[in-house]
Amino acid sequence: MISDVRDAKQKEIAEVLKQLDMLTKMTGLPIYPEPKTGNPLWSDVRELDLRYQIPVKKISKFFDELKKGKVLATRCSKCGTVYFPPQDDCPKCKTSNLEWKEIQGEGEILTFTVISVKPPSFAHYPDYVVGIARFGDVNVTAWVDGPREKIKVGSRVKLDVSKREPEGYITYRLILV
Ligand SMILES: [Zn+2]
Repeated sequence: MISDVRDAKQKEIAEVLKQLDMLTKMTGLPIYPEPKTGNPLWSDVRELDLRYQIPVKKISKFFDELKKGKVLATRCSKCGTVYFPPQDDCPKCKTSNLEWKEIQGEGEILTFTVISVKPPSFAHYPDYVVGIARFGDVNVTAWVDGPREKIKVGSRVKLDVSKREPEGYITYRLILV
């Protein structure tokens, strides 16, 4: 009896994951409407056994613009703090509805590291570089692509939006200028 329930549940989960994969292939992003409310949910595509879900309604504009190749941060109109990844609330001022601001131009690598011991959900990638770059008044943490020997503290970088394979989801990365 219990195993019947478990089998049915696993079938159901397999079906949902299949639909999610199709959706990701079609739209480029693993975002789908939550069945009850219709609010957009981001479903992580890297995890193999467990896919965690994060509500993204308040920052859905970020994903809409990402599809168009733009990377947005949010800015508090009261204190001017810029948040990236974007968030809809400023914890300093306790205000919401922050304004959107595109991260443009060139940034500068503040620090970086080569990841050779990877978390399980990244184990299928070759070694990669994760760096923090300063773009004016905001820091961006992301993968850094370019000739390994040329990545240095102070290197000029820009943001690039492209599909990351093999999952095929749209994401941003830093590339050497
Ligand atoms: Zn603020």
